[in-house]
Amino acid sequence: MRHLHVASPYRTRNDEQYTDMKVTITDWKAVAGWRWDVPDDDVCGICRSAFDACCPSCKIPGDDCPLIWGECSHVFHMHCLLKWLGAENSQQQCPMDRRPWVTAS
Ligand SMILES: [Zn+2]
Ligand SMILES: [Zn+2]
Ligand SMILES: [Zn+2]
Repeated sequence: MRHLHVASPYRTRNDEQYTDMKVTITDWKAVAGWRWDVPDDDVCGICRSAFDACCPSCKIPGDDCPLIWGECSHVFHMHCLLKWLGAENSQQQCPMDRRPWVTAS
């Protein structure tokens, strides 16, 4: 019985530490998630909304409405670009410079 008394508070402390860590990571994601690191022109060239806002198809900016970078250095809301690339007249080109769209890795 004495053993159990010693062991259980120890385990509780570990659980708390684990929870703390999870909360910290979640907070960091919430803060960093939609502060996109984008150069000068900070509006999407397709929908003309700011990158800190979401595309017209979404209601809440953040991880659910990510940005996509092309090798031509242009940035768009991913949803805007996918819609654009799905359009027949896009010919799979970047809407800004008409170069073949290649997603930067
Ligand atoms: Zn957009
Ligand atoms: Zn979106
Ligand atoms: Zn481009």
